[in-house]
Amino acid sequence: MQRITMVIHGGAGTINREDLTPELEAAYLQGLQDALDGGYAVLQEGGSAVNAVKAAAVILEDNLLFNAGRGSVFTKKGLQEMDAAIMDGETLEAGAVAGVRNVRNPVELATEVLRNSDHVFLSGKGANDFAIKQGVKLEPDEYFFSQFRYDQWKAVRDSDNYNLDHTVQDLNEFKEKKFGTIGAVACDQSGNVAAATSTGGMTNKKYGRIGDTPLIGCGTYANNNTCAISCTGHGEVFIRAVAAYDVSALIEYKDLSLADACNEVVLNKLVKMQGEGGLIGVDSKGTFALVFNSAGMYRGVKSSDGTNETAIYK
Ligand code: ASP
Repeated sequence: MQRITMVIHGGAGTINREDLTPELEAAYLQGLQDALDGGYAVLQEGGSAVNAVKAAAVILEDNLLFNAGRGSVFTKKGLQEMDAAIMDGETLEAGAVAGVRNVRNPVELATEVLRNSDHVFLSGKGANDFAIKQGVKLEPDEYFFSQFRYDQWKAVRDSDNYNLDHTVQDLNEFKEKKFGTIGAVACDQSGNVAAATSTGGMTNKKYGRIGDTPLIGCGTYANNNTCAISCTGHGEVFIRAVAAYDVSALIEYKDLSLADACNEVVLNKLVKMQGEGGLIGVDSKGTFALVFNSAGMYRGVKSSDGTNETAIYK
């Protein structure tokens, strides 16, 4: 029997136990479980890996706790500019969007790009025009407002600093310890794999900064012959490491197992490049991996072998 597996993350970084009240910790774990259950239900009903990762990502995007969709961080100009990507490991088709505004679920828009456009990657106003054409749900600015994101931004907006949602640039100046970015990978009943990643990026980002999340091969990649990967961490380094594809290449060309390939990229290559973060992966047998070099990663996995876990710390 083909094993089905759903894996998710909600960002990785310096998660301090003392900063997380028991109530907040329970809310994060519940948010992760809801997304796991939502994605897994699609797999259980015979749905595709692409639909499962999309379903899980939408649930996380709708949750204010995570830096994606509704909970996205503020840019230098006080706006939300969101990035997302989705890839189908069976066909190698992919869809990605960057710098989109007021789109309720950027992962839905990325899926529209995958399914209903001749392109792979749309950005900015053009991507928003495509959202309107496809009838993707839009929301007013107020929908994306949360006091704690606003306060995070207020602390840095008059400086040139930018904050990764999971780690501070200058510990003395900012006491910011919130984490973000969401991702999902899945293996369905046919042994097809898929990956999706979505983010608001960095607090106070400017000049249209885009991270690894929507870049195919960097933050997101899927190939039935190797694996599906979704990353979270310091985007600039993950881009230079071509992190997601690197895991796939190690499996394809060096015959590494999924676990060994993930460990090599996250615990060796990225560490050497000072790239803090982690990734989740699954292969076409439903084998999974969750690896991070940071203090924690919001994460969860549910599989037909009986595994059903969510966790934050190591
Ligand atoms: N990788 C994301 C970015 O650089 C951020 C994150 O994962 O928290 O935009």
